[in-house]
Parts: sequence; structure tokens; C-alpha cells
Amino acid sequence: MADFPEVDLSWLPSSPPLTIFLVFDVNGLLCDSDSGASGKIRWRENLNGFLRYCFAQFEVVFWSACGGKKLERYKKELQELTKVILRSDRLFGQDLCECSQHRDPLNPEKPIFLKPLSKFFAQCPDANASNTVLIDDSPDKSCMNDPRNAIHPFTYRSSDPNAPPGLMAMKRWLINLRGWTGDVREYVERNRPAWSYPPVTADRVRLLLEGSKAPQQTAAVMTL
Ligand SMILES: [Mg+2]
Repeated sequence: MADFPEVDLSWLPSSPPLTIFLVFDVNGLLCDSDSGASGKIRWRENLNGFLRYCFAQFEVVFWSACGGKKLERYKKELQELTKVILRSDRLFGQDLCECSQHRDPLNPEKPIFLKPLSKFFAQCPDANASNTVLIDDSPDKSCMNDPRNAIHPFTYRSSDPNAPPGLMAMKRWLINLRGWTGDVREYVERNRPAWSYPPVTADRVRLLLEGSKAPQQTAAVMTL
């Protein structure tokens, strides 16, 4: 049997591209949605093209702080928009969030939901802190994570659809991320976008996390 001929494979990249998980928030990032299960959802213009690029280049996950019927509507409309069936490990809602006991004095009725990536990693074993970026307009959501695992694009409002960041700016940032071959935390640290809110401060993290203690834990501490 003849030997296989020598084939020049030097044109191949030295290693296959890394899998990178993008965990997208929904409201305030991809759409502007009125509150309530039946509230109107206004998706960003050209969102489909942006998401199709993301689906082709990344592992795309959606994580909303909503639950119930609103989450179902997000799922249905995202699937209709992108023609992609979202698997159960690619769409998460309030169930995967932690709820801070802290309430902002200006909006005391509104719970603050947090998105600890550790809970997402437990659902998706291929994802970890070196290959995952949470993209969420609310810095509070990421207070349980390494700040280098998230960016916080300015909140999208349909009343001002041209306010930064546009989808092109986000796509450029993602194209460069796609070219990055190391730990994504280093990329985020070196390339924090100008169109992004800063991560939460240490004081804010303390406030949100102290508020997250379960009531019985607090009581136990107080009786000591
Ligand atoms: Mg949001």
C-alpha cells in the first residue's frame, strides 16, 4: 500500500479557534420592553443580522431576569426573528438568578436580580470563566462575578435608537474578541468599551451581597 503523500498543512491555523460563550441580557440590550407579561417588546433594528453573526462565531446564550410568560415571549420572538431554535441550555431566566435583599430607595418595590455566572457554568459544563462574557446593560447583575467577565453597554431605549452603542460598534468589539486566542478576561480588561458603564464599585457589591443573605442566616448571626 502506497504511503500517503506529503501534504502542506502550514496554511491551517496553529490551533482551532476557542469556543467563546456570549451571555446576552435581553431587555435594555437587545430590546426595549414595557413591563408586564403583555408589555410591548421593541427589538433593535437589524438585530437579526447581528445575532446571526454571533451564532456563527460564538456559543450564544440569552439570560433574562424575567420569568414566566415574559420569558416565553422573549423565547418565541427571538426564535421567530433569528429562525434558530433555542435549546434549554441557551436560554435562562429568573430561575437562574439570585435575588438581592437590597432595594434601591427610589424604587423599593423592584427586586434586584443578580446573575452569578457560576450558576450558568453549572448548567453548561463547557463554559467557564476563561471563555465566557456576560453582556448586560446593568452592572449590578454581575456583582457576583469577576468584573472582567462582563461588559455593560449603555441601556438601549427605542425612543433614542441611534444612541451608542449601535450594533455595529458591538460587532466590531466582538470581531476583535473572536480574534483573541487567550483568556477572555484579559481581552475585557484591555478593551473595556467607551460605550459601556463601568463595573460596580466594591461598595455597591457589598451592599448588594449583604442584602442577598438568606433571612435565617442573618437571624443566626444576630443570636450569636
Ligand atoms: Mg437589561
